[in-house]
Amino acid sequence: MNILVSGGAGYIGSHACKALAQAGFTPVTFDNLSTGWRDAVQFGPFIQGDLTDAEAIGRAFETYEPKAILHFAALSRVDEAMRNPGLYWRNNVLGSLNLIEAAVEHGCLDIVFSSTCATYGDQDNVILDETTQQQPLNAYGASKQAVEQMLRDFGATHGVRHVVFRYFNVAGADPEAQVGEFHRPETHLVPIVLDAVAGVRDGVTIYGTDYPTEDGTCIRDYVHVSDLVDAHLLGLRWLLEGKGSRAFNLGTGSGFSVRDVIDAARRVTNMDVPTTLGDRRPGDAIKLVSGSNRAEHELNWKPCKSTMPQMIEDAWRWHQVADYRE
Ligand code: UDP
Repeated sequence: MNILVSGGAGYIGSHACKALAQAGFTPVTFDNLSTGWRDAVQFGPFIQGDLTDAEAIGRAFETYEPKAILHFAALSRVDEAMRNPGLYWRNNVLGSLNLIEAAVEHGCLDIVFSSTCATYGDQDNVILDETTQQQPLNAYGASKQAVEQMLRDFGATHGVRHVVFRYFNVAGADPEAQVGEFHRPETHLVPIVLDAVAGVRDGVTIYGTDYPTEDGTCIRDYVHVSDLVDAHLLGLRWLLEGKGSRAFNLGTGSGFSVRDVIDAARRVTNMDVPTTLGDRRPGDAIKLVSGSNRAEHELNWKPCKSTMPQMIEDAWRWHQVADYRE
């Protein structure tokens, strides 16, 4: 059974393709390689195409007749979204509209969509569960919230069924190090810390040490990418079994500060991580921690690899053996 994977050459998409192939599906990657890597596409056919190109998407549906879609393709950097909101609205929202319209036209009505906890914004002392009001702080979160609404609208009118996953912070790598996290430029905390460990960069700048948290740095809820893609397989089956549209947070409910992550990397690698104290990064929420276990209860999701040492160990193994550098 063919599954169209938009963004299958990216960090999370490539891990999802591996999991799909292992489960007996054929992942068909549709990716413009703007932030993904050709070498990450190892588990099924590859179409180089852009979601803003409606004709290219139509051809992909005609050639492969996918049964369902995992929609990862998106720009996902808060700093970039703050500088260039138009880019986010065009790429993430218009791209998704083209994909969803093509899906409807070709009768492919089951869509698993990558959304984000950034849709919740910065809500002090509010439990972030799936019923929490979404108040994004930046165009990245706003673009994802808009696509969630788009899916609901297309659900009501055209019968699109969707599982929306609101990711918290994804980290780690394939434990077999076949695929992993690699961005250029790198902006995410865990790979930056590991670049510092490896001496690829001088150190890590901690963005803000005056937040109202215990150690003054921002708090995030980290999920292992393997656990995250497990949830996608469960979400896909949920849709194929006709269980209907649903949103799920994907987080563990445990918060780690920036300093916690750096300390964990020091312990796991047994190496130093030089740090510099910097200014706050615009658009960052103080604390994003999931307050829901709906995915555990309803999908039977078991995020058993999502401990900080395990995520760093797997990311570090990948960092040492492979990346997509030509
Ligand atoms: N962060 C940091 N230094 C870096 C990169 C990130 O202090 O070089 C912080 C960032 O401000 C945030 C946390 O680490 O509080 C996680 O950031 P990341 O970009 O990995 O994910 P985000 O939460 O933005 O999705």
